[in-house]
Amino acid sequence: MDTDVIVIGAGIVGAACAHALAQAGRRVLVLDARIGGATGAGMGHLVVMDDNPAELALSRHSMAQWRALAPRMGEDCAYSACGTLWIAANEEEMAEAERKQQRLHAHGIDSRLLDAPALTRAEPALRKDLAGALEVPGDGILYAPNAARWLLAQGGASIRVEHAKVDAIEDDGTLQLADGSRRTAPQIVLANGIEATTLCPELPIRPKKGHLLITDRYPGTVHHQLVELGYVTSAHHSDGDSVAFNVQPRPTGQLLIGSSRQFGTTDPAVEAPMLARMLQRALDYLPGLADLNAVRSWTGLRAATPDGLPLLGKHPWREKLWLAVGHEGLGVTTAPGSAHLLAALMTGAAPGFDAAPYAPRGLLEERMSAAPRVHQ
Ligand SMILES: Cc1cc2nc3c(=O)[nH]c(=O)nc-3n(C[C@H](O)[C@H](O)[C@H](O)COP(=O)(O)OP(=O)(O)OC[C@H]3O[C@@H](n4cnc5c(N)ncnc54)[C@H](O)[C@@H]3O)c2cc1C
Repeated sequence: MDTDVIVIGAGIVGAACAHALAQAGRRVLVLDARIGGATGAGMGHLVVMDDNPAELALSRHSMAQWRALAPRMGEDCAYSACGTLWIAANEEEMAEAERKQQRLHAHGIDSRLLDAPALTRAEPALRKDLAGALEVPGDGILYAPNAARWLLAQGGASIRVEHAKVDAIEDDGTLQLADGSRRTAPQIVLANGIEATTLCPELPIRPKKGHLLITDRYPGTVHHQLVELGYVTSAHHSDGDSVAFNVQPRPTGQLLIGSSRQFGTTDPAVEAPMLARMLQRALDYLPGLADLNAVRSWTGLRAATPDGLPLLGKHPWREKLWLAVGHEGLGVTTAPGSAHLLAALMTGAAPGFDAAPYAPRGLLEERMSAAPRVHQ
C-alpha cells in the first residue's frame, strides 16, 4: 500500500487521527513502539469540560462524536452513558454548580441541578451532608485501550499498523526507526503522547503524574462518574501536588478511584503518601470505601501544555510534520474532536469549529523566542 500519512503513536489520539484520515480517503501507516502511554493508564471519563471556550468547544464536539460512535463499538470498549455528577460540598460550590449549568446551557448541553435529598437518592453511598450536585447526563466512560484498537480496525485496508519505534525525525520529515530503517510519507502526524518531546524537544510539554486505584467488584455501589466541584479549583488548575475526589463505576462493578496530579517527576512508582492522600479524599466523600478491597493501583503521565490545550496543527517549521499532542488529562474525551480538526486542516476541509486556539505556532514561537532555535 502506498502511504499518504504516517501517524506516530497508536494511543487514543493517534488511533482517532488515523481513523479520521482514513475516513477522509487517506492511506495511513501507524507506527507504534508499544511502550505504553496515558491511554492505558488513564481513567476513560468522557466529560464536557468548560474551563475555557476552546476546551468546551473541543470536548463538546468530541462528546457528540463518541455518542455517535458508541452504538457501533464493541462491548470490550466498555462504553457507558453513566453521566457525570459534579458534587457540591457546600453552598459556595452549589453556587458554582449553578454557574456551570448556565455555561453549559448556553452551549446547548443538557444538565440538571440536584439538591441534597435528590443527590442522596441518586447516590446513597455519598456522605449525607453534601449540598447537592450538577448532573450532566450526556457524559460517559469507556475503556480507552480497546476503543483505540477499535478505531484503528474501522479503517480496514486504509489503516496499517506496524510495531516500530521512531528514533528521530529528520529535517526533511524522514523518520529514522530503531531498527535502522527509514520511512517517509507526504504528511507525518506526531501523536506519541508524553514521548513527543523526545522527537521534538522544542514542544512545550511537561509530564503531570497521576495515581489511580481500582477496587474489587461491588456492583451498584455508585451509578455515575462522581467528581468534586472543588476539582475545578484544586487539582485541575494547580501547579503544585494536589488530589481531588473522582470515582468511576466500571461496567464490571469495580470502582476506579482518582485522582492526583504532580509535576516535576517521571518516576512511574506508586507513591504511598500521594496514594494515601488521594484515598483519604475519596473516603471523605464515600465513607463506605473503607470496607472495600483494592485490587491494584498504578500511575500514568499526562502530557501537559502551558495553557492546558492540545497542540493541533502544522508544526511551524518542521517539514511535513503535523502535531496532535499535549492532551493532558482530557485526551480520551477530546481524541475524536482533535482528530476531526487535524484531518480537516491536513486535507483542506472545513474543521467545523475554530482551530486557532490549538494552533502550535503561537506556543512554539513564544518558547523559541526565549531559547536558541534547535531546528529551522
Ligand atoms: C492518571 C490519568 C487519568 C486520566 N484520566 C482521563 C479521563 O478520565 N478522561 C480523559 O479524557 N483523559 C484522561 N487522561 C488523559 C488521557 O489518558 C490522555 O490524554 C490520552 O490517553 C493521551 O493519548 P495519546 O494517544 O496522546 O498518548 P498515549 O496514550 O501516551 O499514546 C502514545 C503512543 O505513542 C507510542 N510511542 C511513544 N513514543 C514512540 C516512538 N518514538 N515511536 C513510535 N511510537 C511511540 C506509545 O507506544 C503509545 O502507544 C488521564 C491520564 C492519566 C495519566
